[in-house]
Amino acid sequence: MPSLNEMDIKYLPGVGPKRAELLARELNIRSYRDMLYYFPYKYIDRSKTYHIAEITGSMPYIQLKGRITAYTTQGEGARRRLIATFSDGTGTIELVWFKGIKYITERYKTGVEYTLFGKPTLFNGRYNIAHPEIDLADDIIDRSIGLQAYYSTTERMRNAFLNSRTLHKMIYTLWHSIPGQLEETLTPAIIERCHLMGINDALYYIHFPRHVEDLRRAQMRLKFEELFYLQLHLLRYARLRNRHIGGHVFAHIGQYFNRFYHEILPFDLTEAQKKVLREIRADVGSGRQMNRLLQGDVGSGKTMVALMTALMAIDNGYQACIMAPTEILATQHYESIAQWLAPLGLRTELLTGSRRRSERKPILGGLETGEVNLLIGTHALLEEEVVFENLGMVIIDEQHRFGVAQRAKLWKKNTVPPHVLVMTATPIPRTLAMTVYGDLDVSIIDELPPGRKPVHTLLQYDNRRANLYASLRRQLQQGRQVYIVYPLIEESEKSDMKNLVAGYDTVCANFPEYNVCMVHGKMKPAEKEEQMQRFVKGEAHIMVATTVIEVGVNVPNATVMVIENAERFGLAQLHQLRGRVGRGADQSYCILMSRYDLTQETRKRLEIMVETNDGFRIAEADMRMRGPGDMEGTQQSGIAFDLRIANLARDGQILQLARDVASAIVQEDELLERPANYVLRRELARNYAKTVNWGQIS
Ligand code: ADP
Ligand code: MG
Repeated sequence: MPSLNEMDIKYLPGVGPKRAELLARELNIRSYRDMLYYFPYKYIDRSKTYHIAEITGSMPYIQLKGRITAYTTQGEGARRRLIATFSDGTGTIELVWFKGIKYITERYKTGVEYTLFGKPTLFNGRYNIAHPEIDLADDIIDRSIGLQAYYSTTERMRNAFLNSRTLHKMIYTLWHSIPGQLEETLTPAIIERCHLMGINDALYYIHFPRHVEDLRRAQMRLKFEELFYLQLHLLRYARLRNRHIGGHVFAHIGQYFNRFYHEILPFDLTEAQKKVLREIRADVGSGRQMNRLLQGDVGSGKTMVALMTALMAIDNGYQACIMAPTEILATQHYESIAQWLAPLGLRTELLTGSRRRSERKPILGGLETGEVNLLIGTHALLEEEVVFENLGMVIIDEQHRFGVAQRAKLWKKNTVPPHVLVMTATPIPRTLAMTVYGDLDVSIIDELPPGRKPVHTLLQYDNRRANLYASLRRQLQQGRQVYIVYPLIEESEKSDMKNLVAGYDTVCANFPEYNVCMVHGKMKPAEKEEQMQRFVKGEAHIMVATTVIEVGVNVPNATVMVIENAERFGLAQLHQLRGRVGRGADQSYCILMSRYDLTQETRKRLEIMVETNDGFRIAEADMRMRGPGDMEGTQQSGIAFDLRIANLARDGQILQLARDVASAIVQEDELLERPANYVLRRELARNYAKTVNWGQIS
C-alpha cells in the first residue's frame, strides 16, 4: 500500500478534482493523511433522540427523528422564507430556511424519515428550528455515532456545499477505504511508558468517538504526539547546534568583575541575580556558544546582570555589546553603566541612529582597534559599518522587539559567534517558553530587590474622574510625578489621537499650577526626546503619553500611572506600563480607568491586574484567556505555531511529559540512529523536513 502521504485526496470517492482543489486551497488538505489529521474543533452528544412533545424552552441543540409533512413559503423578496412542517408522531414543529430554498425542497422529500439536528427557539408561541441539519435516518454514520464531530469550514466551502457534515462523511469513506492498520508513529517504548492509545484507534476515535472516554484518550495521544515531535525537533536542533558551534571560552573571572563586585556595586545582589550569573558563568566556560534567555519582571535588576555578564567578557579580552529597543532605553543604560565602569578605566560608548557622522567616527575606530570595551545602542549596532575587533558577548534587552533574524545578524560579525544573552520583561509562561524558545536555555529572576513596595493597583470607572484628579493632586503636592497613558492602536489612530489631545487639554485645564508634557509615536524623534527629557529632569510634573513609554523611561520620582481606557489594553501591556512606577522608595499607584459596562471577560482581566503584581501569574492568565497565538513575544519567535490539536494554555502537563520523554531520547541517541528510534527519525523528517534549515546551524 502506498503511504497515506502519497495518496491524493482527489481519488477518494465523493471528492473529485473540484472539491480536491477547494480542500487544498481552503484547508491545505491534499493527501489522505492530511485529511485524517484534520481534526474536529468540537463534539456534540447525539446519542439521545428527543420527541417533539418533550421540547421545552431554552434547550440546546437536540436531535429529532421524523418526517416533513408539508412545505410553504412566506414573505417576499429578501424576506422570503421556506417553512416545513416536521412531525414525529408526538407533535409537530416548524423548520425555517432563509436561503437555499430551491436546494432544500429538491433535496429533502416529504414523507421520508430524517434525522434532524438543531436548536429549537420559541417564536410567536410556537417552536421552530432555523436551518436544521438533516440526514437520512438510516444514514450509515449515525448508527455508530455517539458524539458528533464538527469541523471548521470556510465560507467558500459552505457555498459549494462542502460543510462539516460532508467532510465527516468523506473521512468516514476514507477510513473504510484504507486496507489494514495505519503505520504506528511512536515507538512501543513511548506508548507503553505514557499509556497512550495506538495511532490506529486514536485517529479513528478522534473522528468517530463512541463516548467521552474514547475521545479523551484519542485526544491525549494525538496531543502528546504533536508536542513530542515539536520538542524532539527543538531539543535536537539545540543540541546539534551546541555541538557544531563552538564558543569563546571565558576561562576566568578577572579583575574587572571582581573590582566591580567588591568596590563599586552599590547593593547586594539578590539570590536570583546570583543564581543567573552562575548559570551564565557555566555557559561561557563550557566551550559552547551560549544562547540564553533571561526572563525577569520589570525592576528585577536585569541591567545589573547584563553589566556583570559584559564584564566576564571584558575580563577575558573580549568586547561586549548591549542592544536596546529604543533610543531612550539605550541612552539610560549608557548613562548608568558608563558611570559605573569609568572608575575601572573601561571605555563604554553609545551608538544610536541619531548620532552624527562626526560622533560615530571615533566610536567605530575604537571598536575596530578594541579600545572600546562595551558598546551600548539600538538597531544601529547591526549596521554594516559596525565592526568589532573581537566581539565575545551580545546582550539583547527586551527580546520581543527583535526577531530571530536580527539575532542571527549579530552572529555574522565574528567567525566564532559571540555568546548571546537575551533579556525580556514580558514574562512568558513556562509552557510557552519551552516551545517558543525551545532552542534557548532559560534563566529566570523570580525575586525583586529588597525594600520594593508593590505597586498598589485600583480599578476606577470613568464617572469617578473628579476623585481621580483629587488623588493625583495629593501626589503632585508631595512632589511626585504622574504618567497618564492613552491607548493608540493603529486602525483607529485618528480618534485615538483626538482622545489623547483632548485628554492633554483636560489635564492642563485641571492642573494649571503644574507643567504637563505630551509624548506620542507620531512625533519627530527630537521633539519626543525633548518632551521626555522635561519629565526625566522633573521640569514637567505630568506626562500624557501613548504606549511609547512602555519600555524605557526610568523616573523613580514618578509614583502614579493612570491608564485611560484600560479595557483596551492587553494584560502584558498593562503590566509593562505599571512597571514604569514603583521604581523609587515611595508607595506607587497604578489606576486603571475604564468604562462601567465591561464584558465579564474584560472585567476579569482588569481584576487580575488589581489582584497581583506577579508578571508570571499575569502571563499565565493572559495566555489562558487569549490563547498562546496572541501572546506578545511569540509572533516574532520564528517558530510556526500551527498546533493542530494541542493547546499550550491547557495542555501544560502533556507538554512537560512530552518534553521529558524527548529529552531522554536526545540524551541517549542524539542522531536517532538506534533501530528502535527509526520511527522517530522518519516522523520527524515528515513533520519538520520543510521547516529546518540545517545549513544555518553549521
Ligand atoms: P529591569 O531591567 O529588570 O526592569 P533594572 O535593571 O532597571 O530592572 O533595575 C531596576 C532598579 O533596581 C535599578 O535602579 C537597579 O539599580 C536596582 N537594582 C538592581 N539590582 C538590585 C539589587 N540587588 N538591590 C537593590 N537594587 C537593585
Ligand atoms: Mg531593563
